[in-house]
Amino acid sequence: MTTYAAPLRDMRFVLHEVLEAADTLTALPGFADASADLMDAVLDECAKLCEGVLFPINRVGDEVGCTFKDGVVTTPPGFKEAYKQYAEGGWCGLTASPEYGGQGLPETLDYLVSEMIGSANMSIGLYPGLTQGTILALAALGTPEQKKIYLPKLVGGTWQGTMCLTEAHAGSDLGLLRTKAVPNGDGSYSITGTKIFISAGEHDMAENHVHLVLARLPDAPEGSRGISMFLVPKFLPKEDGSPGARNAAVAGSIEHKMGLKASVTCVMNFDGAKGWLVGQAHKGLAGMFVMMNKERLFVGSQGISQAETAYQSAAAYARDRLQGRSADGVAKPDKPADPIIVHPDIRNRLMFSRAIVEAERALAVWTHLNVDIAHKHADAATRQHAEDMVGLMTPIVKAAGTDFGSEITNTCMQVFGGHGYIREHGMEQLVRDVRISQIYEGTNAIQALDLVGRKLGIEQGRLFKGWLSEVEATIKGLESRNDMGEFIAPLKEAVARLTAVTLWMTEESANDPNARGAAAVDYLRLFALTAFAWIWVRMVDTAMAAKASHNDPFYDAKIEVGRYFMKRVLPQTVGLDAVIRAGSTTMMTLPEAAF
Ligand SMILES: Cc1cc2nc3c(=O)[nH]c(=O)nc-3n(C[C@H](O)[C@H](O)[C@H](O)COP(=O)(O)OP(=O)(O)OC[C@H]3O[C@@H](n4cnc5c(N)ncnc54)[C@H](O)[C@@H]3O)c2cc1C
Repeated sequence: MTTYAAPLRDMRFVLHEVLEAADTLTALPGFADASADLMDAVLDECAKLCEGVLFPINRVGDEVGCTFKDGVVTTPPGFKEAYKQYAEGGWCGLTASPEYGGQGLPETLDYLVSEMIGSANMSIGLYPGLTQGTILALAALGTPEQKKIYLPKLVGGTWQGTMCLTEAHAGSDLGLLRTKAVPNGDGSYSITGTKIFISAGEHDMAENHVHLVLARLPDAPEGSRGISMFLVPKFLPKEDGSPGARNAAVAGSIEHKMGLKASVTCVMNFDGAKGWLVGQAHKGLAGMFVMMNKERLFVGSQGISQAETAYQSAAAYARDRLQGRSADGVAKPDKPADPIIVHPDIRNRLMFSRAIVEAERALAVWTHLNVDIAHKHADAATRQHAEDMVGLMTPIVKAAGTDFGSEITNTCMQVFGGHGYIREHGMEQLVRDVRISQIYEGTNAIQALDLVGRKLGIEQGRLFKGWLSEVEATIKGLESRNDMGEFIAPLKEAVARLTAVTLWMTEESANDPNARGAAAVDYLRLFALTAFAWIWVRMVDTAMAAKASHNDPFYDAKIEVGRYFMKRVLPQTVGLDAVIRAGSTTMMTLPEAAF
């Protein structure tokens, strides 16, 4: 079996010691109660739920999966009960407004909660994960009546949300979608079309489903500018808000997948289903981005979460499994062999995993702190800067979090040798489960294009320059310190490399229409590694200061892992720089017929 204990110590280190998040949060309007103590209490409760309820059913979820019969989806044994406990604990509405029954807590805290839930059971976490995005979209764009009817139910978790975008011929390119919405003349619309790959489209854990569906009005312009968003409930709410008549929004079948088997993925048939417009006509894609931006960060947390569980499991196995002898002398003379943790290759896999996961977590928490600042800060310029940081980091948290999630679950499976490939230890489940996170919510190639094509282009690089100013402030504050030299020097080099290659890419794309597309995925990885170096510098600085007053091996380990990152991971940026500068002709010259 895999091993998972919520990494509370590390989470608190990031939250309280590195980012001092409570100081920032409690100064924001509406978050006066979000003290360090309160956040710690929430994290403790979440850890109990994850370790005691959600993690134990992760395996059965994979083995039994969801079943489909006569339009009804049954979730695996224990899921309904576990979800009930989750909903009754108020977790669905952690960040939702108290006006609708939510707890009004920060997104910063929600990130850590989501990571824990994902680590324990990624499948079950996806159901409420989508509901949270639905809540956000309705709270931002819904009519007062929609908010009144739907939000308390979604926040309470008795109803769940979905996101219905994809059609068979319209995946990354949503401008191709064909689902139609025809006005009924009474303010409602008839929605007709088939959506595929819809997570949580139908199941037995919720009393009602609230689908947010992208469709075209009769007068819609072609392409992505002609898409509107509709709210389509499974059961039409009665006057008193309880579920009434069955709507014509029905699951036609469910997919049989590589992993994430306890999270149902449905074909949804809308056959003149009754729905209501959310937000403005033809502006549905922009409206859906309220949900998608939240979900992209959430999917990033899924990648990080699987890597964490894989790392913990591999570290435990490496201490236990006896094979071979240590190169620098027998470590366990009383045993027939030494534990495999003595071998450099095993060490390298564990160190790599940990160096990436800890950086990703810190970067994700920093990004979510900016989400809270962007939502709540009194000063407009501060809000704008925070929003810029979130915009820049969203594709990085999503794509790097999930690409490394896949890489780390694989490298940790390797620690188990053949015992990782067979099912018994659960490592292959992590590899299978995390794989989808690189694909859904916009594939990682689409995330990379968002970074290079859109985010870097905003006002001649305003977002990039805003982030650089944060990094430069860190460097300026620490570069005179001898003890930080081995960390600051590689960070400075990496930042200079990133800045130069960003400029190169901009110049190159003036002459070559494929330049950005050819560079995007490698560029995102280079950017992510540079951002990790920055956050590692901040973590090492914090650990050094704490070490001066506390004799706690936690801080020594933190500094050592940071050192490993700088020396053995960050140099990947040198290769990535060369790869990016090789340009697009390397891949675009071979004639299509030669493939
Ligand atoms: C398990 C699962 C759950 C899902 N859940 C949901 C859900 O709840 N709601 C929902 O609406 N959808 C959902 N999806 C759909 C998912 O978001 C899409 O599969 C994804 O966006 C990619 O679309 P596609 O599969 O059509 O691939 P395509 O768009 O056909 O892409 C194929 C390949 O081409 C690449 N590509 C496409 N366009 C470009 C481009 N312009 N530049 C460079 N590369 C490009 C892609 O990166 C990919 O590698 C889910 C999918 C799965 C498998």
